Amino acid sequence: MTTTTNPADVLRTTFQKSVANYWNTNQNDPVNLRLGEVDGLYHHHYGLGPYDPSVLEGPEETRNERIIEELHRLETAQAEVLLDALGAIAPTDRLLDAGSGRGGSSIMANQRFGCEIDGVSISEYQVGFANEQAQLRGVADKVRFHFRNMLETGLETGSRRAIWTNETTMYVDLDEAFGEFARLLEFGGRYVCITGCSNDVTGLRSKAVSRIDEHYICNIHPRSAYFKALANNGLVPISVVDLTADTIPYWELRAQSSVATGIEDPFLTAYKEGSFHYLLIAADRI
Ligand code: SAH
Repeated sequence: MTTTTNPADVLRTTFQKSVANYWNTNQNDPVNLRLGEVDGLYHHHYGLGPYDPSVLEGPEETRNERIIEELHRLETAQAEVLLDALGAIAPTDRLLDAGSGRGGSSIMANQRFGCEIDGVSISEYQVGFANEQAQLRGVADKVRFHFRNMLETGLETGSRRAIWTNETTMYVDLDEAFGEFARLLEFGGRYVCITGCSNDVTGLRSKAVSRIDEHYICNIHPRSAYFKALANNGLVPISVVDLTADTIPYWELRAQSSVATGIEDPFLTAYKEGSFHYLLIAADRI
């Protein structure tokens, strides 16, 4: 297996270059680092479940610390929900974390299943950071991060028992991504996706959804696009869970924290007006 390091081979389009640039240069955004410092699991996704309201009370000097720990706990809980949906994974299985960020979910998957995981990201900075974390935890022989494009991973055909995307599909063409995942999955292998998607029922993208796209330089897809692209690529849904109500508390807490980035209001508006959903989709390769 060769490791591709030439940016021109990994970043094919102007869009991909701007996404990579975003993740390479937003590295010190406090919401991304302060939360990871809590226990060394670095996430670039949102949280799930109710927050403990007591974090908002108590001494003023430590209020912020409490909120940060609570946000981090909810983000870790989100990754647990994703890993639960992967089904039975043996220590001998190989997994792919497509769009792996700073690698928190991959580290958790290795802790839970003891298996090998490859993560790919188009941010060279993130790949270096995530590999360092794997090294620090002594799992670098099993958890490896690569500077590669998820649309063309270079990994072996049929080599994966499961693949997940945790909030990354808004950066890619779904047919291209699911085509590559179908190639990599063994027969009966599972694909799990957690994503925000727009609601076909409320029509074309709302202003709030457009603001999210603009903030992250992404293209949120409509809900329908997911099921069309899955069906086109031999991926058959086994469960679809609407996580919208479960993620709203995270955003409400984050809006009151020192690590708020300004995108909290569009998320809360979009979820509450029904123009946007937070979905988990699990599908099997046939
Ligand atoms: N899944 C991670 C990170 C989500 S942020 C987590 O849950 O913490 C989105 C990630 O998608 C970033 O790491 C970004 O570099 C990656 N990404 C976007 N487009 C990509 C592409 N075409 N190939 C590989 N990674 C991509």
